[in-house]
Amino acid sequence: MNGPAASAAPPAAASGDVADRAAAGFHAAYGEEPAGRWAAPGRANLIGEHTDYNDGFVLPFALTLRTVVAAAPQPGERWTVRSELSDPPVEFDGGQLDTPGRVTGWAAYVAGVVWALREAGYDVPGARLAIASDVPVGSGLSSSAAIEAAVLAALVDLGGLDLPAERQPRLAQRAENAYVGAPTGIMDQSAVIRCRAGHALFLDCRSESVEHVPFDLDAAGLAVLVVDSRAPHRHADGEYAARRAACERAAALLGVPALRDVGVADLDGALARLDDDEIRRRVRHVVTEDQRVLDTVDLLRAGRVREIGPLLTASHASMRDDFEITVPEIDTAVEAALAAGALGARMTGGGFGGCVLALIEADQADAVAHAVADAYADRGFPTPTHVMVLPAPGATRLS
Ligand code: ADP
Ligand code: MG
Repeated sequence: MNGPAASAAPPAAASGDVADRAAAGFHAAYGEEPAGRWAAPGRANLIGEHTDYNDGFVLPFALTLRTVVAAAPQPGERWTVRSELSDPPVEFDGGQLDTPGRVTGWAAYVAGVVWALREAGYDVPGARLAIASDVPVGSGLSSSAAIEAAVLAALVDLGGLDLPAERQPRLAQRAENAYVGAPTGIMDQSAVIRCRAGHALFLDCRSESVEHVPFDLDAAGLAVLVVDSRAPHRHADGEYAARRAACERAAALLGVPALRDVGVADLDGALARLDDDEIRRRVRHVVTEDQRVLDTVDLLRAGRVREIGPLLTASHASMRDDFEITVPEIDTAVEAALAAGALGARMTGGGFGGCVLALIEADQADAVAHAVADAYADRGFPTPTHVMVLPAPGATRLS
């Protein structure tokens, strides 16, 4: 990510083209050329927050920021992996893959993919891997799904495994849920594997059906500015669990399988049947957010991309006031972006930190980024970083 100030230049290890860095990392670690390189993007969720575990709708798109894996086969059940973020390489073998948890730290994301493939009955080739990435780690842009998807793509190709793209998200999710131990939904892996350039991915989290919805910002002279709030993730895990529990309780009280089954037309009636104000607000967020996803999809299908701005901003207000998952840094970034002329702006991701996305005219990027940085300085927050993104393709082989 670029900071508005020159001081925020990326560290030396991360400069240069990410695919070149992966190949150079492979050569440095193993003294030979890789057999190929595979890339998977980070993702941002355009709209639809905390709707996934309510069986609802989400609308992510893949980012131009990518993780690249350079890889080559090696004999036996042995996997050696290095990341430019962590030296020296980590090695594990088939014996360490009998139960989750034997490989720990960042390499667990790689071991988890090998483990999940083996669990699904695939004969996974031994491999050497080297990873480079432009996806910021831990900012809510899903560097975790990116590393999983890039490694998965490499192993599937190297081993000639019969695993079509539509079945890969489940497997990568299983790596993260069961091996790494992170309870994520299916959105991240679906986005980074299945997205298409110039499109967002409309995903029904109940049926897992997908639709590629046109989201051609470039053609419309628009862009999305992603601002990393740099807010510390305050109690994010506990708050996430509390929101999820509140939604499940509300669904039980309302006698529906999930809050997805309450439509906006039924909302007032549903709210009248709940006597706790906090639960009512949680329900209102989820139900109206599902509708905002559907409304956004309708506009995008009709090519009216410029008009989605108010839906993004309304989503933010709902997360701030009803779901209560934003923090002052995030609210400051959204308000400053809107005041500087963004067509819409919202927090993206689970909340309590992470990133803000702003829909802007392509030539507005500097003005909006500076406005956000100035607002941060006024409030005494650390300088935020930002990057311009366009909807990019999902995981792919590069060479
Ligand atoms: P996010 O997905 O929002 O970036 P997560 O906490 O889900 O944040 O995943 C981040 C973790 O994924 C890192 O702490 C690290 O263990 C692993 N990871 C992601 N990208 C890389 C990479 N390029 N090299 C090594 N580990 C990585
Ligand atoms: Mg993640």
